Amino acid sequence: MSKIPKTILLASSNQGKLRELTIIAKEYNIDILNPSELKTEKSRPDVDENANTFLANARLKTDAFFDWSKMPTLADDSGLEVESLGGFPGVRSARWAGEGLNDKQRCRKLLEKMSEEKVGVEPQDRLARFRCALVLKTDAKTYFQSEGISRGHILTEPRGMGGFGYDSIVEIEELKKTFAEVDFSVTLEKGFRAKAARSLFENLKNGTPYSD
Ligand code: IMP
Repeated sequence: MSKIPKTILLASSNQGKLRELTIIAKEYNIDILNPSELKTEKSRPDVDENANTFLANARLKTDAFFDWSKMPTLADDSGLEVESLGGFPGVRSARWAGEGLNDKQRCRKLLEKMSEEKVGVEPQDRLARFRCALVLKTDAKTYFQSEGISRGHILTEPRGMGGFGYDSIVEIEELKKTFAEVDFSVTLEKGFRAKAARSLFENLKNGTPYSD
C-alpha cells in the first residue's frame, strides 16, 4: 500500500476533463485542484505537446506542471483516432483544424475531411476510437500511468447535446449511442477516461508505480 495524496493538481483547464476526473478521484477520497486555484506568482507552464503518443504528451504536461506546482500532478492527453485516416487526428485532436474553432466546428471539419478524402464511405470503414492517457507524478521519481479506450464509429451527422469535443460524432459500440446522447452517469461508468482514471487510482492504491 502506498500513501495516497489528498489533493492532486490537474495539468489542464479543460472543463470536460476536469468534470469527469473530479468525480472519479472523489471515489478514492482525492480532491482535484485546477491550475487557476493554485496560489502562485509564477506563470502557468505553456507546454509544447509535440510528442508522438498520448502517453508521452501526458508525461510532458505532468513534468512541467509538477515543476511549477511542487505538488502531485495528473495530466490527461486524449483524443480521437479514425482508423481509415491512419489514426488521425490522434495526438493532434485539439489543434489539427486550426486555432479558435469550437468543438462543433472541429467535428464538422472532420466529417468534411472524411468525405473530401472519400474515406469511410462504407459503414465498416468509419471505425474509430477515443483514447485517454493519464500520467500522475507523485514525487520527483514516481509516476503512475494508464490508458483507456472506447471503440465506435464516426457518424455522418452529429447526435446529442451533452459531452464535449468529438463526442457527438462517434457512436460508441457498447452503447449504440454517442457520449453526447447518454446521461453523464453513463460516461462516468463506461467512458474511456473513466476507465483510465479508475485503473490509475487502483494502481496508486495498490502502490504499483510505473517504471521505465
Ligand atoms: P488535449 O488532450 O488537451 O490535447 O485535447 C484533446 C482534444 O481531444 C480535445 O480538445 C477534444 O477535442 C478531444 N477530446 C478529449 N477528450 C475527449 C472526450 O472525452 N470526448 C470527446 N472529445 C475529447
